[in-house]
Amino acid sequence: MAIAFSIFSESMEKSRQKPHALLIAYPLQGHIIPAIHLATKLASNGFTVTFVNTEAIHHQTLRAQNNNNDDIFAGARASSLDIRYELVSDGLPVALDRSLNHDQFMAALLYVLSAHIEELVKKIMGSDNPITCIIADTFFVWPATVSKKFGIRYVSFWTETALVYSLYYHMHLLRLHGHFGSYDNREDTITYIPGVAEIEPTDLMSYLQETDTSSVVHQIIFKAFEEAKGADYVICNTVQELESETISALHVNKPFYAIGPIFPPSFNKRSRTSTSLWTESNCTQWLDSKPKGSILYISFGSYAHLSKKDLEEIACGVLNSKIGFIWVLRPDIVSSDDPEPLPKGFMEESRERGMVVPWCCQTEVLSHVSVGGFLTHCGWNSVLESIWSGVPMLCFPLLTDQFTNRKLVVHDWKVGIDLGGKGKADRMEVSKKIKCLMDGGEFKKEIIEVRRALENAISPNGSSVKNFDSFIGDLMSQCVQKS
Ligand code: UDP
Repeated sequence: MAIAFSIFSESMEKSRQKPHALLIAYPLQGHIIPAIHLATKLASNGFTVTFVNTEAIHHQTLRAQNNNNDDIFAGARASSLDIRYELVSDGLPVALDRSLNHDQFMAALLYVLSAHIEELVKKIMGSDNPITCIIADTFFVWPATVSKKFGIRYVSFWTETALVYSLYYHMHLLRLHGHFGSYDNREDTITYIPGVAEIEPTDLMSYLQETDTSSVVHQIIFKAFEEAKGADYVICNTVQELESETISALHVNKPFYAIGPIFPPSFNKRSRTSTSLWTESNCTQWLDSKPKGSILYISFGSYAHLSKKDLEEIACGVLNSKIGFIWVLRPDIVSSDDPEPLPKGFMEESRERGMVVPWCCQTEVLSHVSVGGFLTHCGWNSVLESIWSGVPMLCFPLLTDQFTNRKLVVHDWKVGIDLGGKGKADRMEVSKKIKCLMDGGEFKKEIIEVRRALENAISPNGSSVKNFDSFIGDLMSQCVQKS
């Protein structure tokens, strides 16, 4: 430890001019995308960034792009951004299907990854250009411990809403009041979380609704939020104006900066840095031939699974609605063992008005003028992208923060309709609500307003721009003081 400290101060001397962030993305699609855009944003603001991917994610990305370029940031570097690229092992064989072996994958993130990260940090700290700070996804279980060991700052990067952060941060209060962690959790409204006026237990993240808290993911959440308490700063992919009370309450504990939405420089075009883990089908030509606002976009994100029964109900509801659609159906949406889960006859019956693809460039699709609605699982990136594109949502949450995001979309901001959730799909409801959503009128005013909040936040002098500048200023002054 003493050796590590002396290496640090010596090398900090050499590199005082330019901050160097080690940015480590959580190895899941919905976390990698904002992390890549954050890397570009930091580098555009004068940082040297070393971006760390796991070997498995790296290989999957290259396979999806069908390219031989060994460094996803080569394009960014060609435009003079100082982004370096490093790989670490998550401890499992690269080719292992992590979707099919979910618990093993999570256990590797819980127990193994940190040792590989520590080795990398040690290597870079001993180089000519040591790290100023570690920027790591809040869900990692080691960043405060590792940062402390090397005497560097830990910036916790939260890719979800401030509301979700606050609920995890205050898990002890939920436990204390009997809303979480017992076999008969209370079902009444929760009114004691700082900065959260009230929330129903059914709007909590799925992990906080479960009575068995012994899963690997629970252990990750518990440990990660212990680590988060040791963070120097939190940066969050949200907008101050949309969650002002929650953010103010969090700010009392430690600096919490809303810097979202973190989008690529050109939202509706494919990014020059590859972000997708699956090959993107091109939907533009098909969409070009459809009337304005007529197409429903359907996607349940990159991670959650649908039951076969829910999938069937949704598919029949989509058929009955007679609405045109693009459906992103990941090959593992039900399970990697069931790669063709749609009901018999669905493809033939919908051929004239529907398109089913394994993956697409979602931002390109959502911003196409023909798309008028989004049947979504309410992943936070999807919600932000939909609002940015002015597309109202039909919400079918499946897992994790998606239930809490639905509350914001449906109840707080009124830019979408609730379709129930996991295990509750009903074909009649699906078709009725799709028609209601595609009518569109009901949500026009609200979605324009919420979209404006996003737009204002990232325009010059907007809250996210100012917060980002304050974050950099505060981080740098602390690093200089420390060195
Ligand atoms: N996405 C994409 N193509 C698709 C489906 C999703 O590029 O066909 C992207 C989408 O734009 C979003 C991310 O994958 O940025 C999914 O993140 P989200 O938080 O919505 O859900 P998660 O996958 O984490 O459940």
